Amino acid sequence: MPENSVTAAADLVVRGLTVSVEDKEILRGVDLSVPAGEIHALMGPNGSGKSTLAYTLSGHPKYTVTAGSATFGGEDLLALPADARARLGVFLCFQYPTAIPGVTTVNFMRAALRAQGKEMPAREFIRRLNEEMAALKIDESFRARYINDGFSGGEKKRAEVLQMAMLRPRLSILDETDSGLDVDALRTVANGVNRLAGPDMSVLVITHYPRILEYLKPDRVHVLNQGRIVTSGGPELARQIESQGYEPIIGPVAAQTAHSHTSLTGVVAEAQA
Ligand code: ADP
Ligand code: MG
Repeated sequence: MPENSVTAAADLVVRGLTVSVEDKEILRGVDLSVPAGEIHALMGPNGSGKSTLAYTLSGHPKYTVTAGSATFGGEDLLALPADARARLGVFLCFQYPTAIPGVTTVNFMRAALRAQGKEMPAREFIRRLNEEMAALKIDESFRARYINDGFSGGEKKRAEVLQMAMLRPRLSILDETDSGLDVDALRTVANGVNRLAGPDMSVLVITHYPRILEYLKPDRVHVLNQGRIVTSGGPELARQIESQGYEPIIGPVAAQTAHSHTSLTGVVAEAQA
């Protein structure tokens, strides 16, 4: 079937995307292009709208698009329900993966593959699952464990990347997949992504911290602040953020708000004092 034979990555093009959640405007005209096969990083302080963009592209019903467009391989993503976007090859590694007690990792993976028309014979499925689990250093016992149920933060992130590895999406959006991972786990997970990234899979790696970008080398880095991409550059932009923080890019008040739990009024008062 032609739909399933499409394995190459495709261009993601986002134009003027404006998104509200519960009548609050979060994204305020996002322009972003990820050409087929490239790795792009989306950075930005907490609350800047990174997850909102990830959810919107994946089709989460809670996020209302009020303006703009998003296409993948020329197809209008926004016109499709979440499952159709997944079949098109768009995959989201959740920032906060959900536990599904009662559903084992094996059954979950088989159902997900079936839903995307990527079923394979049981023997091949188990062989591939074992292979991918070994590459991600996931213990065999996880096959029979309920998905994400009682998993540690790092185990959940590996389980997300395992799903990615099994489903072989054409575009992976990794939403802070690095958070909660120690350095060794970070390297393992980044290697797992690197194995798949390339002509078959583009990657949009959302991260708060630049460290994962030492392993997952981005072609471009974009900074989101208050719902807009405020600057884009090469890998050196991530290194600048590593050494100087967001402040030189987005200004002292915004950066302080992002990095502390101080209320905005508190920061403004401080800045004015
Ligand atoms: P980031 O991922 O960059 O930290 P988010 O996209 O999670 O940012 O959040 C951006 C803003 O949108 C925050 O102010 C957050 O409180 C708000 N927001 C995001 N999702 C929801 C939601 N489901 N309900 C209400 N507010 C939300
Ligand atoms: Mg987030």
